[in-house]
Amino acid sequence: MTNMTKAIGLLSGGLDSTLAVKLMMNQGIEVTALNFITPFCTCTKKGCRHEASRIAKEFVIKIKVIAVKEDYIKMVKNPKYGYGKNINPCIDCRIFMLKKAKEYMEEMNASFLFTGEVLGQRPMSQRREAMALIEKEAGLEGLILRPLSAQFLEPTIPEKEGLIDREKLFGIRGRWRKPQMKLAEELNIKDYQCPAGGCRLTDLQFARKVREAFEHNEDSVGDMILLRYGRHFRLPSGVRVIVGRNEEENSIISRFAEEKDLLMEVVGFGSPITLLKDSCDKRDIKMAASVCVRYSNYKGKAEVRIGCRERWKKNLFIEPIKEEFKKYLIGGIST
Ligand code: SF4
Repeated sequence: MTNMTKAIGLLSGGLDSTLAVKLMMNQGIEVTALNFITPFCTCTKKGCRHEASRIAKEFVIKIKVIAVKEDYIKMVKNPKYGYGKNINPCIDCRIFMLKKAKEYMEEMNASFLFTGEVLGQRPMSQRREAMALIEKEAGLEGLILRPLSAQFLEPTIPEKEGLIDREKLFGIRGRWRKPQMKLAEELNIKDYQCPAGGCRLTDLQFARKVREAFEHNEDSVGDMILLRYGRHFRLPSGVRVIVGRNEEENSIISRFAEEKDLLMEVVGFGSPITLLKDSCDKRDIKMAASVCVRYSNYKGKAEVRIGCRERWKKNLFIEPIKEEFKKYLIGGIST
C-alpha cells in the first residue's frame, strides 16, 4: 500500500501520451495506463497495444487494455456530434473512451485522468470548446489533465487541490511536433515508433469501405476488421465476397469466418482464400467460387473446395469469372 496519488493515463503508444505518462510519474503520481484497441488503429504492424505495453513495461507501470466491442461500432455508425473529414467521429469517440476510462478510474480509486492531448493538434476533438464538451459529456469536468497543454487550459481539480504542480506542466499547442520531440529528448524518451498515431477512419478510401458496409448493415467488430484485408466485392444479391491477396490475409480471413460464412479455395493451386459472407444461395456460391478461380494461379476451369473453418463440404468445378466482374469491387480498381 502506498499513499501516492493515483491517476489513469490514456496511453495510445504514441509519443504525446508517452510524454504525459512520464510527466505525471515525475510528479510522483502512481500511474496506471489505459490502452484502447479499435479495429481502425493504424499503428505499427504489431499494433498500438504492443507499443503501449512496451512503454508500460519500460516505465514499470500497470496497463489495462480495452478492446472495443459492438457498442463502439454502433457509435461510429451513428455519432451524436457527427464526423470529421471522413468517417471519424472524433468527439463521440473521445467521449466513448473517456466514459470507459472514468469507470476504470472509479474502480481503481484513482483521483483523476490524464491524456497526451495537445490543444489545436487535431481539428475536431482537440479544440478548446470540443475538449470542454467531451469532458462534460463524459461526466469528467475538471478531472482530465492534459499535461502537454495545461498552461493554456483552465486549472483542473488535481491542480487546484495541489496534487499536481501546475508550474511543471507545459504549454504546447498546434500540429507542430518539434516541442514534443525536444521534450522527449529532455525526458530521455527514445525509440518512439508512432509519433502521431493513426486511425483508419480518417482515411478516405477506408472511410468509403466503412460507409458501404454500414449501408448493408455490416457493423460488427469482425466486419470492420475484415475491411482491412483482401479484395472486397459486393455481389448483385447484396452479399460480400472477400479474396485474400497473400498468405497473411488468407489466414486472417479464415480466422474471421463465421459459422454462416463459406470459405473457398482452388484445390492444389495455392489459391487465395475466398470468403462468401452469410449466404448459401447457389448463384452466390457459384459466383464466389468463380472469383476464387480468377484470382488463383490456375488458368481455366478449376476445382474449388467449399466449406467453413476447415470443414470442407463440397467441391465445384468452375470457370474463372469474366473481367466485367470487377465492377462489383468495393472501393476501387483491383488487378
Ligand atoms: S482519429 Fe479515430 S481514434 Fe482518434 S478520436 Fe478520431 S475517431 Fe477516435
